[in-house]
Amino acid sequence: MDAISDPAIREVWVMKSAQVGWTEILNNCIGFHVHQDPAPMLLVQPTLEMAESWSKDRLAPMVRDSPVLTERIADPKARDSGNTLLHKKFSGGHLTVAGANSPAGLASRPIRVVLFDEVDRYPASAGTEGDPVSLGKKRTTTFWNRKLLAGSTPTIKGSSRIEAGFEAGDQRFYFVPCTSCGEFQRLVWAQVQWPEGRPEEATYVCQHCGVMLTEADKAEMLKAGEWRATRDSRGIASFHISELYSPWSSWSEMAVAFVQAKRFPETLQTWINTSLGETYEDRGESVAPQGLASRREQYGPQTVPAGVVLLTAGVDVQDDRLEVSIWGWGRDEEAWLVEHAVLRGDPGSDALWLELDAFVAAKRGSEDGRRLLVEAVAVDSGGHFTQQVYGYAARRKARRVFAIKGAGGFGRLIWPKAAGRAGKTSAQVWIVGVDTAKDLLYGRLRRVLEPGPGYLHFCAAVEPEWFEQLTNEVIVHKSVQGRRVRAYKPRAAGVRTEALDCMVYAYAAFLGRAGPRVLEHRKTAPAASEEVVEPKPEPVQPQQQATVVRRPQQMRRPGGYMNSWR
Ligand SMILES: [Zn+2]
Repeated sequence: MDAISDPAIREVWVMKSAQVGWTEILNNCIGFHVHQDPAPMLLVQPTLEMAESWSKDRLAPMVRDSPVLTERIADPKARDSGNTLLHKKFSGGHLTVAGANSPAGLASRPIRVVLFDEVDRYPASAGTEGDPVSLGKKRTTTFWNRKLLAGSTPTIKGSSRIEAGFEAGDQRFYFVPCTSCGEFQRLVWAQVQWPEGRPEEATYVCQHCGVMLTEADKAEMLKAGEWRATRDSRGIASFHISELYSPWSSWSEMAVAFVQAKRFPETLQTWINTSLGETYEDRGESVAPQGLASRREQYGPQTVPAGVVLLTAGVDVQDDRLEVSIWGWGRDEEAWLVEHAVLRGDPGSDALWLELDAFVAAKRGSEDGRRLLVEAVAVDSGGHFTQQVYGYAARRKARRVFAIKGAGGFGRLIWPKAAGRAGKTSAQVWIVGVDTAKDLLYGRLRRVLEPGPGYLHFCAAVEPEWFEQLTNEVIVHKSVQGRRVRAYKPRAAGVRTEALDCMVYAYAAFLGRAGPRVLEHRKTAPAASEEVVEPKPEPVQPQQQATVVRRPQQMRRPGGYMNSWR
């Protein structure tokens, strides 16, 4: 807040975790410019919807509870106030609240103070108008005393806006003195350590004297701390702050959350972003098809391993055929490819769709003698034979056959909260976040290398060509209007991607079936194979079970303390 009101500083970038009071800083900045230094202001949220809820849930209570603001900003409900949810006037200025996805709010009048909230969740372009940050910045060019404030939880290294902004600035970190030796230091995750298997006992180990610091020490250290720039300032102040500093969170809570999160690559990523406030390195390495093919296991549609709890199917529609994969899902989303089929024929004819019905309904059983049914089917309506897919799904709604359409964009939900309508028809279509799904599934293929949570198994019957298809997309970084943007692209032309598409759709069907809830529910009913397990003489510690995935590697620390994925 000192930097924001420092006339020598033009831009302030804050790369942050959750739980560090960012919303209050944003609010204070707005309150200050309404009360003390009136100016035309623009606040940008990732979407118009988020802009509206920010105005209702964050701004309105502050204005209501602060008499100096209530006096200056008329209630939008009052007659002739001229104020709306997204536009507030006050003497000497105004505040416009906009969504980064909507160019209208970004391209209006001149602005002196522009505030960008959660910039890493902005789309690459506001409609067709281009980069929302550049658009917002452009509004400020006529003011000599213009000010930019941007904050965000970071996302992926290389395409993170907030990280780029942080790196362009003077890179300030908060240094705190150890209560024992007095040495100043940045709080870093590697120093949070705990006895193996007991993260709830985590403490912070001073990197100078090795003393174990507690939450009581933290309060004292925060009070005595100071921001230190680590690079030369050129009118851009940038800050990094993580949950390690949060007065509303503890080191042991973080350690417990970390142990839980590191079971899956995607939850580990979220934890690194939201708790450490750091970007996640997406090395963009491709998945080698040969390596995966060598993971094939001896099981088939009649001998599905006992871990499978439910089956779903993903169907890709091509001009002359349907391709369908049946995937089985088990505890902690460990998954088994059960069968992949290519059904040749004309998708414009009913015959082929009846063949699909028969394939989906075919008898499948587990090695422990259970009959397994396909409980949900997702069929791609996005490319070919859209109307046939709508009709097929509509007639089989009761059997959870979903017409889906893939939509790109990172951060989009894999399975939407509700179905949409296809144009003017009554057909239901589910918009599936395919890029998010590919990130998740490719992350598991790359990083989960031992059976257990999130591991993907392949049956012996699939051909090597199927693995080529599965791994044919890679992450590329394109430059869109001067900004690096991540995208999925085929690695080799001419290689198809049906295996990947079918896996993504089967996972969508799993979510459409409320799969995680089903797994949670059914695991309480023991499978046949579990009933014969003799009680073990010694109880297995739950923490040991939770770390079946030994990647990233755990490192032992002196004195039997451990932490960590680095
Ligand atoms: Zn110390």
